[in-house]
Amino acid sequence: MNDLEFRQQVLDTKSASFCAAKWYNATIWLGSGMTTSCHHPPAHRIDLEEIKTRPSAIHNTVEKKIDRLNMQLGNRPRGCEYCWKIEDMGRDAISDRVYKSKIYPLEALDEAYTQPHQEDVNLRTLEIAFDRTCQFACSYCNPAFSSTWVRDIQRNGPYESLVSDGRGHFTHDHPSSQLYRFGETNPYVEAFFEWWETDLHKTLQELRITGGEPLMSGETWKLLDWFKNNKGKSQTKLAINSNLGAEVDIDRLLSSIDGLEVDIYTSQESVGNQAEYIRDGLDYEQWLKNVKRLLDQDSIKAVHCMSTINALCLDTLDQLLDQVLILRTKYGRSRVSFSLNILRFPSFQSPLVLPKSIKAKHVAKLRQWLDQHGHIPELHEYEINHMQRLIDYLDVVKTPHRDTFEMPKLHNDFKQFYQQYDQRRGKNFTATFPLLVEWYESIQV
Ligand code: SF4
Repeated sequence: MNDLEFRQQVLDTKSASFCAAKWYNATIWLGSGMTTSCHHPPAHRIDLEEIKTRPSAIHNTVEKKIDRLNMQLGNRPRGCEYCWKIEDMGRDAISDRVYKSKIYPLEALDEAYTQPHQEDVNLRTLEIAFDRTCQFACSYCNPAFSSTWVRDIQRNGPYESLVSDGRGHFTHDHPSSQLYRFGETNPYVEAFFEWWETDLHKTLQELRITGGEPLMSGETWKLLDWFKNNKGKSQTKLAINSNLGAEVDIDRLLSSIDGLEVDIYTSQESVGNQAEYIRDGLDYEQWLKNVKRLLDQDSIKAVHCMSTINALCLDTLDQLLDQVLILRTKYGRSRVSFSLNILRFPSFQSPLVLPKSIKAKHVAKLRQWLDQHGHIPELHEYEINHMQRLIDYLDVVKTPHRDTFEMPKLHNDFKQFYQQYDQRRGKNFTATFPLLVEWYESIQV
């Protein structure tokens, strides 16, 4: 069954808004005590009292239970706007509702749809972040997810003169994202390890560790040690998100996962100095070396390249995808893949802030790339769909999300932000993005 048939024949026959991720998937940030279902909806707080007696409440929150009821009734939870925006484009665009439901057995989908919404559910896939330690400070990230971003704000003060809805991310150091100091007991981390020891390790299909940079967090190594010391006790597949920067201890990683099979997810959406501009802290060539080194190991099942599509990456996105295909030729189709996720926050970094003429150039280039490579087996079906939906998004959607302020404010913030980013990080926007210079310089701030 292809992706569209799955949506029409499986999901939509339950309800027009049903998505199994609301039951079986969670992203949980233990440093801040927040959770969401997939990573798109805004995070909400986990009840500290509830987890004292019921550690599974780190996933089964009241808010998710209300969303589950709404999905059973066919109402669209507001937090899932990412998917509704894609679906409302028409053109049979495939939203993540499909990809994030398709991975579960059909019986599990039936069970989710029919069971009373108040009941707790055992997770099947979990993305967990222990803390925000990270050596990178990417332009589209913020202090909630990176300790290097925290240092930028603490040393240099807030970004100034931003006026659109994304400004709050860059004006303070987000102390609520790290509620407990290092060495202090974090009850959310405790609840996770308790749930993991008692139940989760028996039922969870996939555990994906994220961050910050998870390979710089002590709790990640503790969890990897659990796998090492309890070989065969859990069938959970392990996956790790990593920026694969120069500081990541690849030797230690390989020795910790010896005998396991691990998927690595790494972020990248452009190449060379443009990638290094967007992902501050990155050494692109070192990243590529690390990717190849991992692919040379039997313990690495696959390396997945996650592209966060923002206003700056479209110039060289095609070159990155060419690189992915080169790696695929060498290492095999199942061992290298890519996904294209469209950035919505902060809105002023969305690709939709670009002027029509530049968006049209990008659309033409992406169409050409898809014409050249967009057939199976060269690409996976979901890769073709991701590329098609990106093209449609650039072509059809006008504003990054429903509450977006008007475009002049986004343009103001685009220029204000990158001027200050250049000063703080020793970078040079105009030298790095020649295609955007004329437009960038025309923005009055
Ligand atoms: S945003 Fe989409 S994929 Fe995520 S939980 Fe909502 S409907 Fe599912």
